[in-house]
Amino acid sequence: MGFWSKKEKNNSEPTPEAQAAAAIQASRVSMNELVLQSIHEGVVFIGPEGNVHLANPTATQLLGRSYDEILNLNYDSVFDFFDKTGNRISLSRNPIATALKTNEYSETRDLDLIAKDSKKNTPVSLTISPTSPGQNGRSSFVITFRDITKEIAEEHERSEFISTASHEMRTPVASIEGYLGLALNPQTATIDDRAKSYLEKAHESSQHLGRLFQDLLDTTKLDDGQITPKLEPVEIVGLVKQISDAQIPNISKKGLGYQFGSGSVDQQVGGGKRIDQVIYASIDPDFMREIVNNIIENAIKYTPAGWVTVNVRADEYNVQITIADTGIGIAREELNHVFQKFYRVDNRDTREIGGTGLGLYLVKQRVEAMNGRIWVESEVGKGSQFIILFPRISQNEYEQRNFMNQNVEKQEKGL
Ligand code: ADP
Repeated sequence: MGFWSKKEKNNSEPTPEAQAAAAIQASRVSMNELVLQSIHEGVVFIGPEGNVHLANPTATQLLGRSYDEILNLNYDSVFDFFDKTGNRISLSRNPIATALKTNEYSETRDLDLIAKDSKKNTPVSLTISPTSPGQNGRSSFVITFRDITKEIAEEHERSEFISTASHEMRTPVASIEGYLGLALNPQTATIDDRAKSYLEKAHESSQHLGRLFQDLLDTTKLDDGQITPKLEPVEIVGLVKQISDAQIPNISKKGLGYQFGSGSVDQQVGGGKRIDQVIYASIDPDFMREIVNNIIENAIKYTPAGWVTVNVRADEYNVQITIADTGIGIAREELNHVFQKFYRVDNRDTREIGGTGLGLYLVKQRVEAMNGRIWVESEVGKGSQFIILFPRISQNEYEQRNFMNQNVEKQEKGL
C-alpha cells in the first residue's frame, strides 16, 4: 500500500476545469510521494494524539517495521530510544513526548534508536517540527531522522587527529618556552636590551601557543566525550571561595580590588545578622576550578581598573554563582557570540589583549555537562557579570549521597 494514497469518490461528472485541477493535484501528490520515497532520511508524520499517519521507506527501514505495522500506532511503541549510556529513555526525556506537550520544534543528536528485533543501537540525528496547529491549538508533527554512525566515526577520527597533533606540539613548544625563559633570565644569560625585547615577544608568543594547544586539546576531548564530569555532592560556597581566593595575587598584581560574598537571597538580611550559608550542589570540583579560574582570568584581563567580585547564593532550587568585573564590558550584539568556539570581540580595547577565543566555549561546555546554565550580562564601559546556575541539593541529599559514596568506596577497598 502507498503511504500517501488518498482516494476520492465523486458520482457527478467533473467539469474539464475540475479534471485539469485534479490532474495537477494528482501530479503534485505523486511528486510528493516520489520525493518522500527517495530521500535518505526517515520521515514520519504523527497526529496531535501521537499516532503515526505516514512513514516513508527509510523510516520503516530504520524502525525495522513494515508501513502497515506502524500505521496508527502510538509513537511510543514505534520509536525505541536509548541514551548514550545505553539506558532506554523515560517518557519525560522523550523529545516527541515533549514536543506534543509544548508544540515546539526540537532537534537532538544525543539519542540512539533500536530497530525492532535488532540488538544494535543506531545513533540518529532527529528533528521534530510542528505543523500549523489545528482548531484545538494542538499540532501534528513531522519527525525526520537519519543514521549518523558514519558522521560520528568521522568526527571521532577528526578529533583524535587534533588531540594527537596538539599533544605532540605541546612538547616542543614547552621546550622553546623554557629556553626563551633561560635566555631572559639574567642569572643564566647575558643579552643586550634590544635582544631582550625581541625575546620577550617570542616568549609571550610561545606561551600563547602553549595555551592554544592546551585549549584545543581540552576542546576536542570535551566535544568527543573523552572528558566527562565526575559529579559528587559538594559544599559549593567553600569550594568557589577557595578557588577564587587563590586568584587574589593575580588580581592584586593588576591593581584591582577583590570581594567575595555569599548567603541566601533571603537570609542575607535576616535579623540584621548575615549568616554564611552552606549550599550544596552535585558538581565536579575539577570542572568547577577550570570554570571559575577562566572567568576570573578574563575579568582580570578585560578590566583596566576597579573590582572583581565573586558571589555565591541560592534559593530553594538553584545555586547561583556570579563573577562580576568593572571592566570594558561587552557590546549587546556580541553577548550571544562570546561562548562560541574561537570567537573574540575585535575592537580598540581588546586588540592588544591576548587570548585564544576558546576559554568561554570550554566554560560553557563544562557548565552544561554538569546540568548547569551560564549567561553574561554586560554594559560597555561599565563591566560584565557572568552568571552560572546549578540545581541545588538539600543537606539531607548531600549527606545521603556522601554516605552512599563512602560505602561504595569501602566495598571497592574490600573493607
Ligand atoms: P579569550 O581567550 O579571547 O579571552 P574567551 O573565550 O575567554 O576568549 O572570551 C571570548 C571573548 O569574550 C573575549 O575575546 C573577549 O572579547 C570577551 N570577554 C570575555 N570575558 C570578558 C570580560 N570579563 N569583559 C569583557 N569582555 C570579555
